[in-house]
Amino acid sequence: MEASSIYTGPVFEMARKQFETVADMLDIPAPERTRIFMPKRTLAVSCPIQHDDGSVVVYQGYRVQHHLTLGPAKGGTRFAPNVDVGEVAALAIWMSWKCALAGLPYGGAKGGVAVDPRALSPRELETLSRRYMQEMLPFVGPHTDVMAPDMGTNEQVMAWFMDTYSMNQGKTVLEIVTGKPVDNGGTVGRREATGRGVAYLIGRAAETIGLKINGSTAIVQGFGNVGSVAAVTLQAMGVTVVGVSDHTCAYYDPKGLDVAKLEAHVRRTGVLEGYSKEGLFDASELLVQPCDILVPAAIERVINGKNADKLQCRILAEAANGPTTPEADAILRNRPEIYVIPDILCNAGGVIVSYFEWVQDLQQLFWDETEVNDRLHKTLERSYQAVSTLIEKRSLSARDAALSIGVERVLNAKRKRGLFP
Ligand code: GLU
Repeated sequence: MEASSIYTGPVFEMARKQFETVADMLDIPAPERTRIFMPKRTLAVSCPIQHDDGSVVVYQGYRVQHHLTLGPAKGGTRFAPNVDVGEVAALAIWMSWKCALAGLPYGGAKGGVAVDPRALSPRELETLSRRYMQEMLPFVGPHTDVMAPDMGTNEQVMAWFMDTYSMNQGKTVLEIVTGKPVDNGGTVGRREATGRGVAYLIGRAAETIGLKINGSTAIVQGFGNVGSVAAVTLQAMGVTVVGVSDHTCAYYDPKGLDVAKLEAHVRRTGVLEGYSKEGLFDASELLVQPCDILVPAAIERVINGKNADKLQCRILAEAANGPTTPEADAILRNRPEIYVIPDILCNAGGVIVSYFEWVQDLQQLFWDETEVNDRLHKTLERSYQAVSTLIEKRSLSARDAALSIGVERVLNAKRKRGLFP
């Protein structure tokens, strides 16, 4: 594949390694690998905004569209300090495999702005969100590229994106972004969808390995939208949540934490810090504590060559994108006692319900929450079974099985469409 490109860095290399492993398995010829793997196009923008103190700060933003073969590109926009184009490209590539595995008519995309959103005032955040969307106008569209929330963005940011796009069009275009507030053409169940999907698949994995979910224990790293909803849903399924963490601190109690109280605290203050003086724990040690279910729901590469052999869980549910490095994968291949639910399967609930939101917006016909959740579970079940069948039939790791289904679907679509012109 291409030796040099603008896409560099450890996260991009991770996506490349995963792809190469699967491309070898699928016997994809070399020139075709480049065509499938390298992103179709990328827009890099400078977003100048005026801060409340009068100073002007210029933030760097990106949007990567990995492919447009199956329909519009689809994926979230991340506001985080270390965002760079290589990371955004990797996340866009993972969105492609994720959408294809779920059978959605989308290619993958991702966007990002290198900013710490917590350091901005509400007005500064709104100005940056609007400016970023303004810069993206020539690049996105409801049938070209549909944005959604990701780390550091939320329903409010999506409402500003939608408003900015709509004001430029002279009409309301709900279907330009998903993950909007329900008051603004969002769908019921989207905010909870990723966490609910994670919990549903944990339930299925527990059945597969014969783990009784009621009375089992879980540790959740990351207490944002995904981690907190996963924790609440797991607790409702009878799971005892013994550990949680976010970027501020970690809590661990083998007897169990009160997830509802933790969630209320985070809703009030934005962070776990300050919840209690008891149960504080070394965040870097949390992942290797004993539990039945380990849920990394934060950032990339937290399970790596250094800690993969120390994990003490039975199910590793990858709610984050890219939490496990290829080095860790190699170690986990020799630890069959740990059942991995790979990210592109595990956290697909978010983009699946985003797809439902887009469909509802296009049709101007809105569903109730039961319909959203039933369809979500049905879609996840189909993917889970496809992955499980392949694991058994070809003795693959769960990641290789999931990726090979996603990659092969994109490959087949590209082959059948042929080259233009
Ligand atoms: N950012 C989420 C993800 O990584 C959701 C994307 C979407 O809903 O389009 O899957």
